[in-house]
Amino acid sequence: MNGTKQRNTKIVATVGPASSSYDALLALVQAGVNVFRLNFSHGSHEQHQEVIDSIIKINDRYNLFTGILADLQGPKIRIGDLEGDGFPIQSGDLLTFVTEPCLGTREKIYISYENFATDVQPGERIILDDGKVVLQVLETNKKDKVKLSVVHGFHISSRKGVNLPETSISIPSLTEKDLEDLDYILTQPINWIALSFVRTAKEVRKLQEKIREVGHKAKVISKIEKPQAIEDIDAIIKQSDGIMIARGDLGVEVPMERLPSMQKIIIGKCLQRGTPVIVATQLMDSMITNPFPTRAEILDVANAVLDGTDAVMLSGETAMGKHPVKVIEAMTKIIIEAEKNYDLTSKRAKASRKSPTYYSDVICINAGKTADDIRAKGIAGITISGYTAFKISSYRPACKIFIFSNAYPTLCALSLVWGVIPFFYDKFTSTDETIADVTMILKESKAVKQGDYLVNTGSMPLHRRFRTNFLKITLVD
Ligand code: PGA
Ligand code: MN
Repeated sequence: MNGTKQRNTKIVATVGPASSSYDALLALVQAGVNVFRLNFSHGSHEQHQEVIDSIIKINDRYNLFTGILADLQGPKIRIGDLEGDGFPIQSGDLLTFVTEPCLGTREKIYISYENFATDVQPGERIILDDGKVVLQVLETNKKDKVKLSVVHGFHISSRKGVNLPETSISIPSLTEKDLEDLDYILTQPINWIALSFVRTAKEVRKLQEKIREVGHKAKVISKIEKPQAIEDIDAIIKQSDGIMIARGDLGVEVPMERLPSMQKIIIGKCLQRGTPVIVATQLMDSMITNPFPTRAEILDVANAVLDGTDAVMLSGETAMGKHPVKVIEAMTKIIIEAEKNYDLTSKRAKASRKSPTYYSDVICINAGKTADDIRAKGIAGITISGYTAFKISSYRPACKIFIFSNAYPTLCALSLVWGVIPFFYDKFTSTDETIADVTMILKESKAVKQGDYLVNTGSMPLHRRFRTNFLKITLVD
């Protein structure tokens, strides 16, 4: 189950009406989902609770470590409801956006952004409905009303999303709604929290501090979907525990033709640091209605794999699509085939002398190198925080990465990480015994057999809980 024995690249699936029942979630896990994403732009806490309870039940029953990612909505801006669900518009038409709620007409349309009139400048572009409508600011009264001209469009309809790539938006990354959602999320066994529309590393640190304040262990994923985040990408990656290339909003916030290079550059940077990275949005979009992906989608998934991403993510395909299980099955096939002839050797992380964890980085990276040299069946690493797993994975070794931990949430978080197969283990009496136990567990689970080689990493002396500091070759007997 979970397909991680046959593939390294992980699958994240968004839960929605098409996938929220226990049976639907189980079917998705059986088809290969590694991490479920709860989208806090939709659904009540009660609805999310049912999903979380079902995932926990599935993990318990089937001895799995399916991860849970809570995605905060962030400062998502929308227009209000329109009379009769909208009207056609043409280039040159004039519109007025107001910040006082009203039913939208040709005269005025509500926008859910209090400081809109003070933040925008004449000449800035405003994008609606994923790029289907482009407007330009003509004038603002700097209070509550903005006049716009239509640059491009054919129809404007209710509650469409608004992107302001050229505006310096004053809404904080954690809105009031996000803070309420966060209060709830931090009472739950959530492994990853995604922060939408990240602009600076500072915002990421603030969220991490809020999580730590209550003693929660969730790790933070920065969603890269603003031009400001691209400008500050190194600092954001450095601060984040994970990265999501949120191609939906990013594709309208930056010139669309830059998406492919940005995807490759961001994955490359994440790999160098050992930061897990997710490629998100529209990977299998046509399967929301069709039983098969388009040729372009097949290539897109395969290319994300070839870029070296940790995970690929599904949104509408599993949240509200007609064929959630078929999507996972198709994606799995594409990933397995793409991985058969891929070569990530040129993308492998190197240990950086500047890193405060340089010596353990060297061990983790050399675990991958040693495993490749001796054609080991796997690397068996031990971790509490997950750090060792991130680092070993960043070398993208040819063999599997078996990660043992007594920290159950860490193991679930590691379900997102390339090549990692998590195992629970909590005996840790002596290093010799642990290596013997780990080897036995792997033998019993048929991950290795007699005559195979394993590369072990760990920390000695065991009770001191240092970072990974040893590397050993074991012949399975
Ligand atoms: P969203 O994020 O689905 O929450 O908008 C993903 C994206 O923008 O690609
Ligand atoms: Mn988005």
